[in-house]
Amino acid sequence: MIVAFDLDDTLYRELDYVESGFAAVAGWLEEHRGLPATQSVEIMATSLIRSGRGQQFDDLLKAYDLFTVRLRDQLIRVYRDHEPRLRLPDASRAVLVQLARAGHRLFVVTDGHSRVQARKINALGVADLVEHCYITWRHGRDAQKPSTRCFELMLRRTRSTPDDLVYVGDNPMKDFIGVRALGGSTIRVLTGSHSHLRLDAAHEADVAVGSITEVPSALDGLVANG
Ligand SMILES: [Mg+2]
Repeated sequence: MIVAFDLDDTLYRELDYVESGFAAVAGWLEEHRGLPATQSVEIMATSLIRSGRGQQFDDLLKAYDLFTVRLRDQLIRVYRDHEPRLRLPDASRAVLVQLARAGHRLFVVTDGHSRVQARKINALGVADLVEHCYITWRHGRDAQKPSTRCFELMLRRTRSTPDDLVYVGDNPMKDFIGVRALGGSTIRVLTGSHSHLRLDAAHEADVAVGSITEVPSALDGLVANG
């Protein structure tokens, strides 16, 4: 089978990336403005819990009474450009190794800023474990999921049909509907910030599992059921 994985919150915990970015931003502010990094990290962590993602640098600079759009944008650049400290969880590594040994051809399909996603892939060392990582934005903004453009490229590359394709992801808003319409199968890992989200049948995966460890048996089930 052609087994493709989403990256964020499927193969690793996206919050690890966010925390790595907060540390980089806090370090920058300490170096350039003399603000204590531990305090900055605390402010951003509190803001994340209170407001969800997107407000952290505004909240941080306002807490220091330093807010300007210019400085906020500078912090966004520091965050996006930082070299993340990430480690691929052992469970994810084990699953990729196991599936490759079983003869499956493995890929990653991920949305997001090309350079940001490339740095995550690099930090996680995931490129060594799969045949190719598709960063959808490299193929045009309209190639992001639920577009199937990268999946079609993958099928062409492997000379396969959608019957052979399985996508493993965590986000029912965009991960499954396109692949399913294309004729592929889908496995949802109930992890990350979307884990409690339930959508209509078209958006949901064929199978849902509690952790990445259960993907190989879910895959066997899909293959057995044709
Ligand atoms: Mg994801």
